Amino acid sequence: MKKILITGGAGFIGSHLTELLLTQGHEVYIIDDLSTGSLDNLTHLVDNDHLHITNGRVQNQKILAPLMAGVDEVFHLAASVGVRNIMENLVSSIENNIAGTAAVLEEADKHKIKVLLTSTSEVYGKGTGASSAETDDLRMGETIKTRWSYACSKAMDEYLAFSFYHERGLPVTVARLFNTVGERQSSAYGMVIPRFVDQALKNEPITVYGDGAQSRCFGHVKDVVGALVKLMDHSEAVGQVYNIGNTEEISIKELAEIVVKITGSRSEIVYIPYEKAFKTGFEDAESRRPNIDKIQKLIGYAPTYDIEAIVSAVVAHTRAEEQVAVGV
Ligand code: UDP
Repeated sequence: MKKILITGGAGFIGSHLTELLLTQGHEVYIIDDLSTGSLDNLTHLVDNDHLHITNGRVQNQKILAPLMAGVDEVFHLAASVGVRNIMENLVSSIENNIAGTAAVLEEADKHKIKVLLTSTSEVYGKGTGASSAETDDLRMGETIKTRWSYACSKAMDEYLAFSFYHERGLPVTVARLFNTVGERQSSAYGMVIPRFVDQALKNEPITVYGDGAQSRCFGHVKDVVGALVKLMDHSEAVGQVYNIGNTEEISIKELAEIVVKITGSRSEIVYIPYEKAFKTGFEDAESRRPNIDKIQKLIGYAPTYDIEAIVSAVVAHTRAEEQVAVGV
């Protein structure tokens, strides 16, 4: 049994990680400012005596320091998330990601607590068209295009983490998460699967941005959190960065069609130009696919959910939630 801190534990991914660590018998501490996270994500766990939740920001040293002093390791997930959310809150997103990670690393360093930092496939920027490997160069767009500020802020978080590792001997591992989806992901911050599922279940138009030829690989959150825990537990992962994601690539147009098929919706699929969907200088990544050789070699990582299984799980969960909401 370990004492484990999860920053951002009330978020979508954090709540699934919390569930897994509690199942494994650990004492779990969460710090979350409930900005994009929600206690609703933890409703099914709050009665567990091994779960301790603190409402606060990681930048608040008075709150973070005592929590960090008592734990064996920290999963740092707290960050600004969601392309739409970030595009609408540019300054605070950059500040939040960089200051938050700095605070966590500084505090962890005082006790040399192992840190797993969740980063993002966004750091690969425009990519190369092929799958992205950890050794690839990062290709961001020009700074005037605000889209890339999120990618840069997370890349800076990675630099900071590895600087603590090299200069101060802090044990850190970085996980670059590709599109992670599943039950409880909110549609409020722009993520495509919860948005499409919500639209389909309401028989409203499904909003594909651009021509829908852009593609992504969607990984189920349960596969992802399993990998995070195995990385944390593996001594060879210290000082390393790993991609986590699914390698099955799908265009957003095909995704919309799958959502319509699985829900049996009457929704039509509509195509919205990027200029209409986003206010300023938006540039979408055309494709994003992880090379997962490195993590496969280390922990035998192999995703277990394909896209149909993922969409079916999200649809079933969303339908069940709606029934609860209307008191059926
Ligand atoms: N997308 C879309 N319609 C939506 C929301 C997103 O067509 O209502 C597209 C978006 O432009 C991107 C893809 O779906 O090409 C994945 O978007 P998401 O925000 O989920 O993840 P990310 O952009 O970080 O890959």
